[in-house]
Amino acid sequence: MNQNLTTDRQTFVTHLECSITGERYEADQLHRLSRAGRPLLVRYDLDAVRSAVSRDTIAARPTDLWRWRELLPVRHTSNIVSLGEIETPLVPLTKSGGPNVLVKDEGRLPTGSFKARGLVMAVAMAKELGVTKIAMPTNGNAGAALAAYATRCGIETIVFCPDDTPEINVREIAMQGARVWRVNGLIDDCGAIVGKGAAEGRWFDFSTLKEPYRIEGKKTMGLELAAQFGWKLPDAIFYPTGGGTGLIGMWKAFDELEKLGWIGSERPKMFAVQASGCAPIVRAFEAGEEHAERWEDASTVAAGIRVPKAVGDFLILRAVRESGGHALAVGDPAILKAVDAAAKQDGLLLCPEGGATLAAYHQALNTGLVDEDDKVVLFNCATGLKYPMPEAPQALDRTRPIDFDAL
Ligand SMILES: *Cc1c(COP(=O)(O)O)cnc(C)c1O
Repeated sequence: MNQNLTTDRQTFVTHLECSITGERYEADQLHRLSRAGRPLLVRYDLDAVRSAVSRDTIAARPTDLWRWRELLPVRHTSNIVSLGEIETPLVPLTKSGGPNVLVKDEGRLPTGSFKARGLVMAVAMAKELGVTKIAMPTNGNAGAALAAYATRCGIETIVFCPDDTPEINVREIAMQGARVWRVNGLIDDCGAIVGKGAAEGRWFDFSTLKEPYRIEGKKTMGLELAAQFGWKLPDAIFYPTGGGTGLIGMWKAFDELEKLGWIGSERPKMFAVQASGCAPIVRAFEAGEEHAERWEDASTVAAGIRVPKAVGDFLILRAVRESGGHALAVGDPAILKAVDAAAKQDGLLLCPEGGATLAAYHQALNTGLVDEDDKVVLFNCATGLKYPMPEAPQALDRTRPIDFDAL
């Protein structure tokens, strides 16, 4: 731990580590990718965490994201910019899913998506390390979460999104104080603009996994699941995978929890779910590759997972393989059908990416990758209210006789 900083709260970060070479980087400094061009992972003194806090102590705290503070990187309380990061509920999806299917409904988080978990952490760390201007490429939700948290603590933000990003996302980003630009390209084309500006020293690059702390925020999904399942884990997790931050983060969380002795060595099968119109991870998984090539002409209704190329591809593939899980692609019609089924049968409005996990669950069931007795968690990563819904045009003229039988 860096002794030069006065600590007004305890954290146990020892250093950061390149995810491919293991090269060590110092804590309490601004970091981007490693020298090898790969994501950095934050490492903790887990022995010290174990002596400082027990899982019962954590379980007795209020159930928000900050109950996990000993396993998070923020050193100074004053740098936490909170909008109320609650623990999200596990909602049974009995009819459209099955008797053992739970949805972790991340749509309840600030800005309506689980991007809040990653960005609340990354922004707090940016603030702690003195960043004043941030740029980011986004498919919508990440930009919205960045805008909200950065604005709240006075950091300037510039956001670039594909020009067909859902309208509501573009507007919420602008409304929450960022400067937002629609770009005639995909998210990695937007990323190239952000990278160019960062190289010129204009701003700090907040692209997925290009700074180390979003993974730490997303890791809390895995920590929460462990606590919610009574310090066990479900049999399978279906995760809609774009940049893969959450899948990588949960895998890291399980590892840290096991090292703490808070869970055993059993792991859920991790299912990386993508859309057939943009499935680079699925293609690499099936080909037995360690890295995934860019997916050309990416297209899907599930904008959040339209990511043609992920810098953490090898970390996603590694976690899926080590877990005995699978990478699965589902088509847009199946995604829309799943969203419809969950809403009409179970009263739960999923986002398209959440619908993709439900469609993938049924595919896995049909092909024997999971069975009906398996306890399964599907991730609904954003509120369904942010996405287009079918029209409901029926109108009633109250000045005319009403046919009550026809209502
Ligand atoms: C960002 C996003 C995803 C993908 O999350 P990653 O952790 O980047 O793979 C899925 N769904 C929605 C709604 C998103 O906003």
